[in-house]
Amino acid sequence: MRPEILNPLFGETQSLKGVGKVLAKPLEKLRLTRVKDLLYHQPSYWMHRKRVDVLDEIDVGETIIIEVTPVDYRTGGPRSPLRVHATDKLGNYISLTFFGRNPGWPKKLLPLGERKVISGKLERYGDELQMVHPDQVLDPDQKNAIALLEPIYPLADGLGNARMRQLIEQSLALAPDLPEWIEPSQLATKSWKSWKHSVLALHSAESTDADDRLAYDEVFANQLAFMLVRANNRTKKGTPIQGDGRLRKQMALPFQLTNAQQRCIAEIEGDLAQSAPMLRLLQGDVGSGKTLVALMALLSAVEAGYQGAFLAPTEILARQHFNSLQKTLAGVPVNLAILTGRDKGKVREATLMGLMDGSIDILIGTHAIFQEHVRYKNLAVAVIDEQHKFGVSQRLMLTQKAERTPHLLAMTATPIPRTLTLSQYGEMDVSRIDELPPGRQSIDTSVISNSRISDVVDGLARHIAAGGQAYWVCPLIDESEKSDLAAAEDRAASLQARFGDQVGMVHGRMKGPEKDSVMDRFQRNEIKVLVATTVIEVGVDVPNASLMIIEAADRFGLAQLHQLRGRVGRGSVKSNCLLIRSDTLSETARARLTLMRETNDGFRIAEEDLRLRGAGELLGTRQSGDAGFRVASPAQVNDLIGPATDDARLLLDRDGGLDSERGQAARIALYLFERDWGVSLLRSG
Ligand code: ADP
Ligand code: MG
Repeated sequence: MRPEILNPLFGETQSLKGVGKVLAKPLEKLRLTRVKDLLYHQPSYWMHRKRVDVLDEIDVGETIIIEVTPVDYRTGGPRSPLRVHATDKLGNYISLTFFGRNPGWPKKLLPLGERKVISGKLERYGDELQMVHPDQVLDPDQKNAIALLEPIYPLADGLGNARMRQLIEQSLALAPDLPEWIEPSQLATKSWKSWKHSVLALHSAESTDADDRLAYDEVFANQLAFMLVRANNRTKKGTPIQGDGRLRKQMALPFQLTNAQQRCIAEIEGDLAQSAPMLRLLQGDVGSGKTLVALMALLSAVEAGYQGAFLAPTEILARQHFNSLQKTLAGVPVNLAILTGRDKGKVREATLMGLMDGSIDILIGTHAIFQEHVRYKNLAVAVIDEQHKFGVSQRLMLTQKAERTPHLLAMTATPIPRTLTLSQYGEMDVSRIDELPPGRQSIDTSVISNSRISDVVDGLARHIAAGGQAYWVCPLIDESEKSDLAAAEDRAASLQARFGDQVGMVHGRMKGPEKDSVMDRFQRNEIKVLVATTVIEVGVDVPNASLMIIEAADRFGLAQLHQLRGRVGRGSVKSNCLLIRSDTLSETARARLTLMRETNDGFRIAEEDLRLRGAGELLGTRQSGDAGFRVASPAQVNDLIGPATDDARLLLDRDGGLDSERGQAARIALYLFERDWGVSLLRSG
C-alpha cells in the first residue's frame, strides 16, 4: 500500500480549487492529472519583463510593462485582426493587435480613454510599434501584480499560464516533507537540497540544479525497482530445460539462420538449462528475425515436455504470428493454439481445457493468455513480443502465473542507445541480433514536400499498376480538434476516389474482426493500398508491400518513423519510403528527416535521437504501460544512471529488505515514481 505521506501528491488535480470541467481536458492532455504531476511540471523558460515609462524603439524584442491609454479601434475586415491604438504618456503610438473572430472582448478589456497597464513583447510592424495579444491587461493601481520574472509553463488550449501558476502554487502548498532516500555522501558531493526544497526551487527563479536532484530520484527509483525484480527472480525456481532438438530438426526452413540468430539462440539455451528462471531481452532491428529465435526457445520447452506461451501486443499481431508459425511448423508435431480477448464460448473453453490437460503445446495470444482463469499444465517458457508495449508490472504478472516461474524472453525492436539500456531494461540480460538476414535490400527514403502530394499519388498509381502494394500512414493529430481518425478517413476517401476498392483502411478504434478482415485482404493482395493510423506500427509482415508513405512525417518521432519504415523492405524487391513533410519545419524535425534519409541503421538512429532531444521522452517509453521517465530527460538519465545504479546497489547490499530508515524512505521513492511493483515483491518474497 502506498505510504500515507504520499496521499496528497496522488490527489487528483480535478480536486484543486478552481478546476472545473473546462480544465479537465487540457490537464489530461498535458498528463497533469495528479498533484504530483503539477509539482514536476517544469517551466519551459523564465520570462523577463522590463518596466518602462515610454515607448522606445530600443526595446523592440523585449517584454515590457507599460501604462497606455487606448484611443482608437481599427479593423480591416472580417479576416484581419482588431488593432487597438493606444498612446503612452508622451503620446507615442502603439498598436495592440488581437487575432481571432471575436473583437468584443479586447474592446471590453481596453475601453477607449481608460488608462491600463499592459505587458507583452514589443515588436515593430511596418512603421508602427505593436504588441500582439498582451499577456496582461490591468488597471494602473495593480501594476505591481505583474512579475518581472515569470515562469512560463508548457500549456494547452484552455489552460493559460496564469491559471497554471495558480494550480502549481496550490500543489506546492500540499507538498509534504519527505524523508531522504539519497545516500548522504552523494547528497553532499552534489550539494543537493531536500526533496521538498528542490520541488519548491524548481518553480522559483533560483532553480539552480534542483531539477538534477529530482531527476536523480526518478532514475534511482527506477534502478532500485529493477534490482528488486532481479533479486526476486534469483530466489525463484524455474524449470531447467534441455530440448533434444527432435522438433527443431523437423522444421524445413527455406533459409539459414544468421550468425547473430545462432548466437542469441545459444545464449537463450544457456539460460534455459539453468534452474533460475531466464530474464532476457532480445533486441533486434525490425526484420532481423526475432520470431524465429523465440520459436526455437518455445520448441525447446515442448521437446522437454513443457508448454510455451507467446504474448503479442495486438490482436492483429497475435493472429499473424499464429498463422505464420503454423506455416513454419507444417508437418512438425506441435499443437499450436490462439487465445485473444475476442475468443468466447465453446472455442475458448476448448482452448482452456487443452492448456490444462497439456494437449496444447504453444499458446499464442494477447494479454488474455495470462488472465485469471487461464491455467497451464506446465508453462516453462513465455515470450513477449514487442515488449515496449507492455509495462514491467504486466511482465511480472505473467511470471507470477505459474507455480514455477517460467523462463521469460522479451523481444523489442526499439533500438536503445547502449548507455540507456541499463535504465530501460536494468533487470534483464540482453541479447542483440545485430545483423539482418542476407539479401535484404536497403530501403530508399526520400523526403517530399506536402505541396507535391499529387505527385506522390501519381507515383502510387504507377506502383500499383506494376503489381506492388503500399502503406499510407496518417499521423496522430492531438493538437487539433480534428481527430487522427478523421484525417485518416479523409485520406482514405480521397484515395478511394481514385483507386476504388483497392484501398483499405485500419485504425485503432476499429473492431477486432473488422480490422482482421482488412489485414487479411491486404495480406492476400486484394487490397493494394492500406491507409492506416499508427496501429500498423508494430510487427505487421506483408513482404509484397514495398512502398511506405508517411504523411506529415515531421510529426513522428525518430523511433516511430524507423518502426514504420521497417514494415517495408521485407521481400526481395527494392523498397521505398516517402516521407511527406509539412511546409514549415522546425530545425530538429528537419534533422530527423535528414537522418532517416541517410541511414537504415536503427541503433544509429537511436543514438542520434538521444542527441537531438535535449529534454523530452525517451524512445518508446511513452507507449509502454510504465510511467517511463517523466522527470529525467534522456540527457539526465544518461548522466545520472551510473551514480544512481551504484547508490541503489549499495542500499540493497546493506538492507535488502528495505527495512532501515533509509530503506523505508526508498520505498517512498518507489511509490512516488510508481515503481512499487518492486515493493510488492519484497512483501511477498
Ligand atoms: P522481427 O525481428 O522484426 O520480428 P521477423 O521475425 O518477423 O522479424 O522476421 C522477418 C522476416 O525475415 C520473416 O519473414 C522471416 O521469415 C524472415 N527471416 C527470419 N530469419 C531469416 C534468415 N535467417 N534468413 C532469411 N530470412 C529470415
Ligand atoms: Mg516481430
